[in-house]
Amino acid sequence: MVGDTHDGGLLVEGATVSYPTRQGRTVAVDDVTLDVAAGEVMALLGPSGCGKSSLLRAVAGLEPLDAGRVLWDGEDVTQVPVHRRGFGLMFQDGQLFPHRDVGGNVAYGLRGTSFGVSREARRDRVAQMLELVGLAGYERRSVVTLSGGQAQRVALARSLAPAPRLLLLDEPLSSLDRRLREELASDVGRVLREAGTTALYVTHDHDEAFTVADRIGVMIAGRLRRVATAQELSSDPGDAEVAAFLGLTHDQGARAEVPGGPS
Ligand code: ADP
Ligand code: MG
Repeated sequence: MVGDTHDGGLLVEGATVSYPTRQGRTVAVDDVTLDVAAGEVMALLGPSGCGKSSLLRAVAGLEPLDAGRVLWDGEDVTQVPVHRRGFGLMFQDGQLFPHRDVGGNVAYGLRGTSFGVSREARRDRVAQMLELVGLAGYERRSVVTLSGGQAQRVALARSLAPAPRLLLLDEPLSSLDRRLREELASDVGRVLREAGTTALYVTHDHDEAFTVADRIGVMIAGRLRRVATAQELSSDPGDAEVAAFLGLTHDQGARAEVPGGPS
């Protein structure tokens, strides 16, 4: 659940990310300030191209900031390299290693962690993670035989196995069809809470964000426009542009008929 205290957790302060263009630079993330409490799952929701992935990559350390800072537990990690931040990453295409079986994929990040001290410790951790994602007993399965949904469950198990202090997920379900995505979104939310993982979850799909997250940050054109719980957003989206993106009417806060929502 949402942490009441500010022990731990992520703080992004005034983050700005830009890219070079022929005319100069284009700003993808424009002065974004955001906090994710320890144990909280926050969704970053916005239309394609609004800067979600750029912000997520900046938090990971994969994209340099033009301005601003990234702090974890009060410590400035802006200059800390990616692999030293203790953050995990999961992408749309889980990028499993095809030459390793399911167990080998999940065990991948365990060396050098407290779960990797022995073969037995690794095996126990892998079994625990596979059970968490609903794939108990799949250790020896070849990853090429998995369905898309199963592959993303394995990718989630792999990214959670080393117990990252923050998990960054970038459209982890976007390659799946809508029905499967809805089913997995609620599973992913449960798994993140059971694992007690602090998470920042990027998606363009508002149903997914509403299902997964404790709070939702709505991003439009590089700016973080509103941060609220699903319930707060539904009753008061804040302004007409955010309301339109969410498929809500600004006046009533009632959900308008928008089949499938924005994409
Ligand atoms: P989202 O994840 O919300 O779809 P992105 O962060 O990928 O948005 O992109 C935000 C903006 O930055 C877009 O206009 C995109 O074209 C641009 N952009 C993203 N990555 C790069 C890059 N490596 N070089 C140049 N422009 C980029
Ligand atoms: Mg993206």
